[in-house]
Amino acid sequence: MSDSVFGQEKRYSFEKGLMGSPFKLVVYAANDSIAELAAAKAFGRVEELNEIMSDYRDGSEINRLSAQSGSGKWVPVSKDLFEILDISLSVSKKTKGAFDVTLGPVVQMWRHATRKGIFPAQEEIAAAMQKTGYSKMKLNRKASSVLLTQKGMRLDIGGLGKGFAAEEAIKEVKKLGITSAMMDAGGKIVLTNPPPGTDGWNINISNGSDSLKALKLSNISLATSGPTYRYMEYNGVRYSHIVDPVTGIGLLFHVRTTAICPNGTISDALATAFSVAGIEKTKKMVRKFPGTTVWLVERKGDRVAEWNTIKQ
Ligand code: ADP
Ligand code: MG
Repeated sequence: MSDSVFGQEKRYSFEKGLMGSPFKLVVYAANDSIAELAAAKAFGRVEELNEIMSDYRDGSEINRLSAQSGSGKWVPVSKDLFEILDISLSVSKKTKGAFDVTLGPVVQMWRHATRKGIFPAQEEIAAAMQKTGYSKMKLNRKASSVLLTQKGMRLDIGGLGKGFAAEEAIKEVKKLGITSAMMDAGGKIVLTNPPPGTDGWNINISNGSDSLKALKLSNISLATSGPTYRYMEYNGVRYSHIVDPVTGIGLLFHVRTTAICPNGTISDALATAFSVAGIEKTKKMVRKFPGTTVWLVERKGDRVAEWNTIKQ
């Protein structure tokens, strides 16, 4: 058992591979059993969400919904699926489509191309693009239903799913009375109160090369999107797994984006959206998201441009 003094909370840390990424949970709890229960509930919730939203499983709720696209039917969906699609749509509208969960057909095409090492033909890109567009996804909150107006559509929540999962996992932890917790869902982080006796969680963010910022944060969330192992290289050119919804092609320039905002789902979506938008457009867009700060680094050849509004 624990060696903690009565009434004093101990730090517990748990890690598990989920949604293709390492998920890390830190909680301050009175004893081992509460901490372990928190981890079981938090990771269990992420697994439950993954069942619903994974695009790798044919039987997942999201894939069954996509399979009904073009049928003219309003499909009733779970509360979880409705919420994430509702947030997606609102971010799409505010970012003029830089963020778009209907890019599934294009994302699938690129995954295929990456595996085979063959760059898709222009007609193939055009055909996939023709099945995308957030205005083709209609939502009815009262009936918790979704209508996908065109056949062949495919929803992909990869751009905000981990942020959503982190946010939901933290809700489970809070239900147990734990007030100091951090969930890091593969770089999408949700924080509650600071660790006992401190004035914040120590979080390091960087521009990906020479500059590092050490922050003390609490009751907020942050997400980073950037050049990872997930890209396609063709004829010496690297294409990001983040797709520009205008061209249907993975981002050509390297961009690394950190977004800090009150909600974990939105910070994840914004890290993706601002990567697409780039510095100049992001300057305008960010005003539509109160309480949001960003650090954007764009690399085009030898040219590096940065924009950083993150304080401390
Ligand atoms: P990561 O999880 O690798 O950090 P992101 O949060 O930036 O990545 O999301 C990238 C994923 O989002 C892609 O793998 C794809 O599934 C999806 N996606 C790609 N482009 C877009 C886009 N423009 N809008 C919304 N989702 C996108
Ligand atoms: Mg994202």
